[in-house]
Amino acid sequence: MTVSSSPAWYTLDRQDTAVHLQTDPNRGLTTEQAEQRYDYYGPNELKETQGRSKFQIFLDQFRNVMLIMLIVVALISGGLDVYEAWASHTFIFPKDAAAILVVVVLNGLLGYVQETRAEAALAALKNMATSKVRVIRDGRIAEIDSVELVPGDVLLLETGVKIAADGRLWEAVNLQVREATLTGEAQGVIKDAGLELPEDTVLGDRLNVVYAGTEVTQGRGTVLVTHTGMSTELGKIATALQAVETEPTPLQKRMTELGNKLVFGSLVLVALVIGAGLIFRPDLFRQFVEVSLSMAVAVVPEGLPAVITVTLALGTQRMVKRNALIRRLPAVETLGSITTICSDKTGTLTQNKMVVQAIRTLHNQANVTGTGYDPNGELQSHPPSDPHVASLGLAEQRLLLLAGAVCNDAVLQKEAGEWIVLGDPTEGALLPLAVKGGFDLAQLHQEFERLEEFPFCADRKRMSVIGTLGTASDYGLDSAPYLMFTKGSPELTLECCTQIQLGGAAQLINPGQRAMILAQNDQLAKQGLRVLGLAYRAWSELPPPASEAESEQNLVWLGLVGILDPPRPEVKAAVEKCLTAGIRPIMITGDHQLTAQAIATSLGICQAGDYVLTGRDLAKMTAAELDQRVMEVNVYARVSPEHKLQIVQALQRQGQVVAMTGDGVNDAPALKQADIGVAMGITGTDVTKEASDMVLLDDNFATIVAATEEGRVIYSNIRRFIKYILGSNIGEVLTIAAAPIIGLGGVPLSPLQILWMNLVTDGLPALALAVEPGSPGVMQVPPINPKESIFARGMGSYMVRVGLVLAIVTIAMMAWAYGFTNTVTSDILSPKRWATMVFTTLCIAQMGHALAVRSTSKLTLELPLFSNPYLLLSLFLTTVLQLCLIYVPFLREFFNTQIISGQELLICFGCSALVFVWVEMEKLVYRYWKRA
Ligand code: ATP
Repeated sequence: MTVSSSPAWYTLDRQDTAVHLQTDPNRGLTTEQAEQRYDYYGPNELKETQGRSKFQIFLDQFRNVMLIMLIVVALISGGLDVYEAWASHTFIFPKDAAAILVVVVLNGLLGYVQETRAEAALAALKNMATSKVRVIRDGRIAEIDSVELVPGDVLLLETGVKIAADGRLWEAVNLQVREATLTGEAQGVIKDAGLELPEDTVLGDRLNVVYAGTEVTQGRGTVLVTHTGMSTELGKIATALQAVETEPTPLQKRMTELGNKLVFGSLVLVALVIGAGLIFRPDLFRQFVEVSLSMAVAVVPEGLPAVITVTLALGTQRMVKRNALIRRLPAVETLGSITTICSDKTGTLTQNKMVVQAIRTLHNQANVTGTGYDPNGELQSHPPSDPHVASLGLAEQRLLLLAGAVCNDAVLQKEAGEWIVLGDPTEGALLPLAVKGGFDLAQLHQEFERLEEFPFCADRKRMSVIGTLGTASDYGLDSAPYLMFTKGSPELTLECCTQIQLGGAAQLINPGQRAMILAQNDQLAKQGLRVLGLAYRAWSELPPPASEAESEQNLVWLGLVGILDPPRPEVKAAVEKCLTAGIRPIMITGDHQLTAQAIATSLGICQAGDYVLTGRDLAKMTAAELDQRVMEVNVYARVSPEHKLQIVQALQRQGQVVAMTGDGVNDAPALKQADIGVAMGITGTDVTKEASDMVLLDDNFATIVAATEEGRVIYSNIRRFIKYILGSNIGEVLTIAAAPIIGLGGVPLSPLQILWMNLVTDGLPALALAVEPGSPGVMQVPPINPKESIFARGMGSYMVRVGLVLAIVTIAMMAWAYGFTNTVTSDILSPKRWATMVFTTLCIAQMGHALAVRSTSKLTLELPLFSNPYLLLSLFLTTVLQLCLIYVPFLREFFNTQIISGQELLICFGCSALVFVWVEMEKLVYRYWKRA
């Protein structure tokens, strides 16, 4: 079955829309209908617009300045061969030039494969980020992936939701939608489901429909889906909205800059060498040109950019396994530098599984038994001995339970034998409570008809519903045609009350009663309970819509409920880990200061008696005053989302690198301001997710800490292979430069051999070093200063030292081998063997270096041998490949090597080992020096 052809939906009345769409607004589609429509319309997603073509991506690889330089080297080297052929009238194949070009193309291909794979990995992450939507299907509320939406679905909207399809509104309660994506208008538009509009209404004025890609900034609504996927308005204009951004990280940018500098440096070197050659030894000009070409290739770490990209991509995958979804690649790096984590309480530090434990009304106190959302349990009242007072208390309690169940958007359902709540867990907790108190929720829904509501917002910290109650007389409320039920933060709700419920009637509230209620609230909050205050008001006529400021006044106080939301068990250890890693965890919550303090103390975020700053304090403080306090206060309570922004800014002014969590729409500015904005994957709104750098798939604080740890490991691995690769480059350049200086006839390494080293024999172990497991100490040192150079903390001097040692060993070996191999004559041992020995020594020395560079403090023997099997594999493979280059005839031919004897090979291995020995000795000396 398919839906008949589309009319202009905004011209239709609601009922007609439902008829056209062949759907039932109350029961939704059946699963069968939804499946049929899915088969017909396909998934609700925007097709990726064609970005760069594959060929374009391939071509883009050659825009890299290093590759351009290699192409120039190839052209010059080829030119020299052609000149020689012309001069000697023989055919000379320009082997080096051809080989370099092959390597350039291969490198381009490698870059292409890496780039497309990295893009695929990020696209997979993007799919994980697709949002869930709530719909009515088969008469029940269900949560489905937004891609499964089909025309005719009944879609439920609430504040913070990003609308997933186009649709005609069935119901809109205070619904405000920001349509900037389509109209450019940043102001929210108030929607009205009751309108029927003329055909020529422009898109921005179609108030009875909503569009995919726009955001609900306030209120609630029900939508009959009319268009999905590419047929939505957004689909028509879509340049698909990227969920995951692939911008280069600061380190990648710095490395590109470094690459450019090295290329420039190598050009200067070439000019110098050739200039010197021309002046001092014009007879050896050709050799000087060859030396300078080789040096140009040797200076540039051709393999480095690829290794960094792969490391970051692998890092994001490891993080996702630990439930942290990276949305912006630079976040991987910033994570290693985090000094402060500002976390919400509810759901992030706590489990967000709410159970009401205590009830307080004027004449009644009850404890509530039962676990989770299971409505089996009872209210154990402690009634006063006076039966009259006890009956007053029970009447108050009944009205309190009713208010909690009715002022509620959550749904209690049994799924697979387990009771669950769809919607806000705080509200969810009040549903089983009502059942435990003897209410039938289905019947209650029929008795109370909701006509209006003022939705919850984090600034007001309250929510109200207004409607008619068929059984009002049972509660002594029969005089009022309309009733408003309100629940929210106890202090703020109490401020709106002028009366208090006493049994079945209301009376003026006196200061003593107010003080008693606040004392009850404090007593519950001190136990770490989340406390809600409930109240009501009778209306003779409906208050105007969106009039919460005036209407939520003159309320009648009903009582308190205390809700247990236990801390997540793993958080305490995560907090401890933060503290040893020099990271300060801070709790920023909308909840009461005593509740916040109790939970923060139990988790180790603060000490008993530490000062808690509240939203009220913050409102009175200047920025300068906040700057003074921000480094010592670890708990902020009863804050509004805009305070979060002030706190992040103040922390940043103190030089802190801040991660900040958030879930609501209003948290988005703070998340954007933070160095790492962290959105909640489960409870977070789409708007916050889009403003974030990282999404916690499990909403868990411990996941932020795990991601920080991964960030540190990645950073230290990047540093490790950079020093490994650049140390080798220094060794190569010095060796090549030394050859003509010490008067050897010939160039020790051809450009092709250098490329082989830089890309293969250095590249493979470097890739393996990139997946080196983090050392256990990685969370026992302070965060990385984001301003520090990548070469900081002795890395630059290490590279120079190792480069020098590598060069000295190789040059000494070269000087000896030159004389030795030139005096020994044999058929197969040709005079160029000394150059092959240099080539082999440099390659094999790097194998030893790779083993030694794994740890800066521990000797290789002290490290578990198999903790990084990739490294062992890569070392074995590169050694075998290197030997193939010497002993396999066509490879020998191609790479211009010569067979060397077993004895000579052993000498190469022996010399190579010296680099390993040197690095290990450095560790011992450092250890001794540190102890001394
Ligand atoms: P966090 O910011 O740590 O997640 P929170 O969930 O307590 O904390 P808010 O959601 O802003 O922060 O809630 C602030 C206060 O508003 C709560 O302490 C509670 O008193 C009240 N409140 C929370 N949810 C509701 C709701 N659905 N209806 C009415 N009041 C609520």
